[in-house]
Amino acid sequence: MKKLLILFMFTPLMLAGQKWSTPLIGNFDYPEVNFINKAPQTRGWAIYDSIIPDPVPFIQQHAKWVAETLYWNDSDNIPNVEKINYSLEDNDGISAKSGGAPVINIFYSTQWIERSMKSMGASQVLYETRGVLYHELTHAYQAHPKGAGGYRAPSKDRKADEYWVFTEGLADAVRTYNGHFDYSSRRPGGHWMDGYRTTGFFLHWLTMKDPDFLRKFNKTAFDIEPWSFDKAMQSIFGPNVTTDSLWEEYQQFLIKTREQQKKPKQQ
Ligand SMILES: [Zn+2]
Repeated sequence: MKKLLILFMFTPLMLAGQKWSTPLIGNFDYPEVNFINKAPQTRGWAIYDSIIPDPVPFIQQHAKWVAETLYWNDSDNIPNVEKINYSLEDNDGISAKSGGAPVINIFYSTQWIERSMKSMGASQVLYETRGVLYHELTHAYQAHPKGAGGYRAPSKDRKADEYWVFTEGLADAVRTYNGHFDYSSRRPGGHWMDGYRTTGFFLHWLTMKDPDFLRKFNKTAFDIEPWSFDKAMQSIFGPNVTTDSLWEEYQQFLIKTREQQKKPKQQ
C-alpha cells in the first residue's frame, strides 16, 4: 500500500518530467539586497515607494524567478550572487547593471519611473518596473559565452559581437517569458543579431518549440567553447538548423500571424 501510494504520488511528476521539468531551486541562495535611495526628493521615488513598499524581498523574489528561468535546480552552475546593491537614481537613463558575482550593482532611474507614469499610467508602472528588473537580474545570473567576442553593440563600421547579442537578447527573453514585455508589438523584420527585444522575442518564440529552450540555451554558454549562436542552436535543435533557418521560420510565423490578425473576424 505504501509502495502504491508512493508510485501514485510520483507518477504524474515523472510523466510531466519527460518533456518539461518544473524548476526546483529549493535551496536558492537569496542575495543580500542593499537598497540605496539616492533620489529621495523625486516624484519617481514617491511613485516607486507607493507601488513597492518593501523592495528588498521584492528584488530577492525576482532574483529567484530569474534563476528558475535560466536553471533547472540548485546543483546547476548558478552564479554565486551574494549581494546586490540596488539604487534609485535621478538620471536620464533607464536601468543598468555593473559588476559581476558575487557583488552586483543595479541602478534604476526615478526619471524613467516618472516618464512611465506619464506615458503608461499608474497601472503600468509596476509592470514596467518588474520588466526592467527581470532584464537587469538576468545579467546577474546568465552565463557568459566564451570565445564569442565581448560586450560590443553594432556600430556603423562593424557587426555586434555574438557575446553582446546573447547577453541583451537573453535578458529581454527572460523578461518576456515571465510576462513582463508586451510581445504583441512584434513585427516581421530586423535580424537576430539586433539584440534586445528583436533577439529576445525570437528566443522567447523558440520556447514554443522546446519549453526548456531558455535553460538549454543558457547552458550552452557554459558547455560550448568557442561559443556561437549556430553551435548553440544546433546543440539544441539538431545539426540541420542554423540560426538563420530558425529566424526565417520565425519570420514566416510573424507574417502569418499578422495576416490572420488582418482578416475580418467571422461571426
Ligand atoms: Zn541589458
